[in-house]
Amino acid sequence: MLTPIPDRCPHCQSKRITLVEYSYDDPNHYDGVSEIQCKRCKKRFGRWSKKELAPGEAEKIYGGNT
Ligand SMILES: [Zn+2]
Repeated sequence: MLTPIPDRCPHCQSKRITLVEYSYDDPNHYDGVSEIQCKRCKKRFGRWSKKELAPGEAEKIYGGNT
């Protein structure tokens, strides 16, 4: 199920991204990166789904495809 973590923003292609790991008490916790945040366009993307996350939305573990 491992997919490569993008090295740039899927939206604006900026490499100024932050890789976010959810905390252990988060229901979507995964032992690794779950979310990509772009410092340039401020958008958030799921590590697996590659989809833009709405405010407050979390990337489900494995993109919800378990
Ligand atoms: Zn971006």
